[in-house]
Amino acid sequence: MSSAVASQPASQPATDQQSHYFRCIAGCSAKHSIYDVIYTCPSCGNLLEVHHDLKPLQKRSADQWKQLFDSRASTSVWPYGSGVWGMREWVIPSLKDENIVSMFEGNTNLFWAERLGQQLGVPDLWIKLCGNSHTGSFKDLGMTVLVSVVKQMMSRGSSVRAVACASTGDTSAALAAYAAYAGIPAVIFLPAGKVSTAQLIQPVANGAHVLALDTDFDGCMKIVKAVTQDNSIYLANSMNSLRIEGQKTVGIEIVRQFDWQIPDWIIIPVGNLGNVSALYKGFKLMMDLGLISRLPRLVAAQAAKASPFYDSFKNGFKEKVVVTAQNTLANAIRIGNPVSYDKAVKAIVETNGIVEQATENELAAAAAHADLTGMFTCPHTGVALAVLSKLIQQGVIKSSDKTVVISTAHGLKFTDFKVGYHESTLEEVTSEYPNPAVHLPANAEVVKAEIAKRLS
Ligand SMILES: *Cc1c(COP(=O)(O)O)cnc(C)c1O
Repeated sequence: MSSAVASQPASQPATDQQSHYFRCIAGCSAKHSIYDVIYTCPSCGNLLEVHHDLKPLQKRSADQWKQLFDSRASTSVWPYGSGVWGMREWVIPSLKDENIVSMFEGNTNLFWAERLGQQLGVPDLWIKLCGNSHTGSFKDLGMTVLVSVVKQMMSRGSSVRAVACASTGDTSAALAAYAAYAGIPAVIFLPAGKVSTAQLIQPVANGAHVLALDTDFDGCMKIVKAVTQDNSIYLANSMNSLRIEGQKTVGIEIVRQFDWQIPDWIIIPVGNLGNVSALYKGFKLMMDLGLISRLPRLVAAQAAKASPFYDSFKNGFKEKVVVTAQNTLANAIRIGNPVSYDKAVKAIVETNGIVEQATENELAAAAAHADLTGMFTCPHTGVALAVLSKLIQQGVIKSSDKTVVISTAHGLKFTDFKVGYHESTLEEVTSEYPNPAVHLPANAEVVKAEIAKRLS
């Protein structure tokens, strides 16, 4: 990091910690430092959120913010080469340069899905490839923030000595990587015998302390909470609202990539509902600071096997529905009791948004169809694409609408899903577009005949 330090800008940002703090989402009045080890409101138990006072941020005009963020988007100057830290004043302004733990995440490609859009009847279709990231999912955006705050806490003599989470997939991969980058010990809790080697291998490779417990996922959560009780181990699970601050940059980044134009729709696959809450938080801040004058409509896409938020939407958000999540190919969103429910309801209501669901067959078909136009979609992105098709068929999304689908993970993390699809072995899926390799003798005439058959 020495060259990065050498190219540090002369002026460090304001470190006024009073300008941003944790507060309870239910409105309890206490303010808590983001450098305190605290995850929920001590009065009512609700989630916390990082609140940013607008006054210091209003010292720059909307145009000045746009210029600043544009100017940092292509730089290698520490830490602005990161899509998250290019917006540091809006994320965690009080972090010191030397405590930021970043592998220049974010700034992922937002590309025009020309052929897929034509085929679906929405020519202005765009894919935001958040999975083109260090550990292969959008979880990196939140983890850079959480681990940076922990590093600053530790540099000030906090009792925290390690970070921990219970997760079978993308969260543990991201936590293990960022912790290893910072030299902070990470502990990953998993249900023994229920997790594949492929799901485990990233934290294993990054040197995390991986503990397989004789219990299920909820049992692991209980143990993590008990172990983190004495504040020596910092909890990195979804209830930790620091991660939202990093994830909220996705919405801002999309608008910046559109030269500050707002799309009509953003579709995102959801489980614990942190990501859709984060999208809304980013858009709200842009509205409050005058960078944009309207909001896109947000669509939360759920797998039908784990769709409590869809059920809640159907009942008009009268009450939170909790289900036992069933097995789904989209295993990163296999959540029956979403942590960030209240925040997500606000995101959907305030943006006139929609919640829709997709079956296993629908998500697999949508992913395979998109792959035939050059993508390599993970099953969660398949859920979002299947929901896109449904909303087009329902006439909700119109052919002239500008629509963004957020691809949350890299397809290469889910090769079993791809192989199973093309071998037509996935449960509850009838492969519509299987394309297995064709085994032939090494005979030019046979080969020519086979190619001719396909091209005819
Ligand atoms: C975590 C995750 C999601 C869901 O995000 P939530 O914040 O839990 O709603 C979607 N897709 C992928 C690939 C994920 O890892």
